[in-house]
Amino acid sequence: MLQIDRKSIASLVEWFRKNQRDLPWRRDPHPYKVWVAEVMSQQTQMNTLLPYFHRFMERFPSVGHLAQSSIEEVFVAWTGLGYYSRARNLHRAAKTVTEDLKGRFPTSFGDWLELSGVGPYTAAAVTSQCFDSPHAVWDGNVLRVASRFFAESQAYSQGFKTAVSRALEKHMSRVPSSQLNQAVMELGALVCTPVKPDCDNCPLRRKCRAFADKNVQLYPPAKIKRREHVVHAVVSVHLKKTADDCFVLLKKRDSGLWYSGMWDFPTELGGVQNPQITLLRLKDKKNDLGTIALKPIKHSITHHRISLLPRVKVEVGLNQPTEDSEVKWFNVEQAFGDRPQIPVATTARKVMRAVSRWLDQVKEKEN
Ligand code: SF4
Repeated sequence: MLQIDRKSIASLVEWFRKNQRDLPWRRDPHPYKVWVAEVMSQQTQMNTLLPYFHRFMERFPSVGHLAQSSIEEVFVAWTGLGYYSRARNLHRAAKTVTEDLKGRFPTSFGDWLELSGVGPYTAAAVTSQCFDSPHAVWDGNVLRVASRFFAESQAYSQGFKTAVSRALEKHMSRVPSSQLNQAVMELGALVCTPVKPDCDNCPLRRKCRAFADKNVQLYPPAKIKRREHVVHAVVSVHLKKTADDCFVLLKKRDSGLWYSGMWDFPTELGGVQNPQITLLRLKDKKNDLGTIALKPIKHSITHHRISLLPRVKVEVGLNQPTEDSEVKWFNVEQAFGDRPQIPVATTARKVMRAVSRWLDQVKEKEN
């Protein structure tokens, strides 16, 4: 059974009180704010997250505002954060809180788990910060600190996670869980960092086994990488230019696919066995097809490596309205500007950046 001594816990919490970052949801730990912040912080660095958090709170100041908005509006506010399923779940759970729970957030760990997209991490993070519920959080920061503190080589095992969580929870009858959970995570973010941890200024160094053994770099052990699955796709970029504007044809993505419900270029998945050959073929036939093929663009989603081959067609003149409501022309600024007005897939934004660079080069050559 793993144990953490009282003195280490006291030093850690004391360190947190003095060194914690001033974050908006710490000043006012309302469940709505803490929940949104925790969902955003998964896979996102704090510096990147903060402007998104402020904009999100401005746009949806309460769970009721979020529930009453359309999923498209939520996606627009989420644009750039990626992992859009998190935004979809947030929206679904906001509806549950507003409609089924009359706007009252659950207070217990178990009831939070009932909400869409809420797993043990989010439930523990929100209920400990807002209600001091005695549940330890487990994320990448906690895992790193714990694996070093105990010099544990099986840091990714369920057994280690359970043992560390129990060891932390034992102290939660004396020390507020809001403080203890945040203290471990903050230590992982600021001191016990993945590279060059600042052990000399760490409140846990007195009992840290990896530090005592002078082999901190061995923990946590490197993760075995999952095999990547390569996906090829041809992306059709159709632009219409007038003297003042540029329009682009986009298609709403089907459900069950990545970025479902968001706008994207019409994309043919899996049609390219060898992108280099396809690239040459498309270049050869550019006059017939009226298209230009750009270099493939890489994008990763979980363990999928996607290679997107943009096929660009630029025409001059006004666009005609389409008959299909799922395929529409949009002003490029409206879709891809700094303040987009429609939810656009991350892959489409990447492709559009490459197309814009190419258009600039063409313009330069013409001048
Ligand atoms: S002493 Fe170093 S390795 Fe140990 S917990 Fe602190 S920062 Fe991490």
